[in-house]
Amino acid sequence: MRVLLLGGTTEASALARLLAGDERFEPILSLAGVTRAPRPQPIPWRIGGFGGVEGLRRYLREQRIEAVIDATHPFATQMTRNVMAAVGGIPLLRLERPAWTPSPGDDWRMVPDMAAAAHSLGPAPLRVLLTIGQKELAAFRKCPWHHYIIRSVDPPDVGSLPPDVEIITATGPFALEAERALLQDRGVQAIVTKNSGGSATAAKLVAAREMGIPVVMMQRPPAVAVEMVGDVDGAMAWLMARQGGAAPLEPPLGG
Ligand code: NAP
Repeated sequence: MRVLLLGGTTEASALARLLAGDERFEPILSLAGVTRAPRPQPIPWRIGGFGGVEGLRRYLREQRIEAVIDATHPFATQMTRNVMAAVGGIPLLRLERPAWTPSPGDDWRMVPDMAAAAHSLGPAPLRVLLTIGQKELAAFRKCPWHHYIIRSVDPPDVGSLPPDVEIITATGPFALEAERALLQDRGVQAIVTKNSGGSATAAKLVAAREMGIPVVMMQRPPAVAVEMVGDVDGAMAWLMARQGGAAPLEPPLGG
């Protein structure tokens, strides 16, 4: 069964590892090409946009794709819209990790977008850790009185930056000890992040809770109307049901 896996997330990479070598499936992993040096992948892969809905429709036809798993990031809304419009009758599953939820002691300020996040930092200069990727940094140019510590996988485009910044390039997962040290050493007074969910980047939230640092949390976009699972096992079960193969058997009761 020819499966297109839209990736760029930990979950997509984990699913690719599960599919590698499974003769029932012919998977192709698709990456946007945002990360300059993507990690090697265990299944055939392609890189770069498809050219909107029309381009994706053509690709699905030419590659005779029989099922699509959209495992893009919860905030990659354009790709998710495009694939919903392009699939036609091809079965589509959304694989999306659950959102983070606050625990007692957390001081989270929920915001709908990065403009609201920048505004919520207030008029007094702060030392702010931004872990929001690279696309939306320009929103913070409107609040140039803060010192921004930007952590991203690749160095951001300098034209998009507020004036007072330091850049840390790093790829998760991040350990709690290291996150505590980062917040302490840089004197971080607020964190701005997106509700990405997952464990790889969650330690900063624990460190912030321990240290009483407020977190400005961009909320997830509204859920889309497509069949959805929250983990890789759910995606694998969905694929096996589509492929017509037997799902893994439960041990017989009493046996
Ligand atoms: P986006 O705004 O939803 O998509 C913008 C365009 O990038 C799409 O229209 C598509 O171009 C192309 N694209 C996106 N994902 C693609 C994929 N997996 N394969 C091929 N083309 C893809 O996406 P984004 O927010 O820029 O995210 C880009 C990638 O980074 C995604 O793969 C996502 O999973 C990953 N990522 C995003 C975030 C985030 O916070 N947004 C965080 C971590 C990882 P065409 O229209 O030309 O097809």
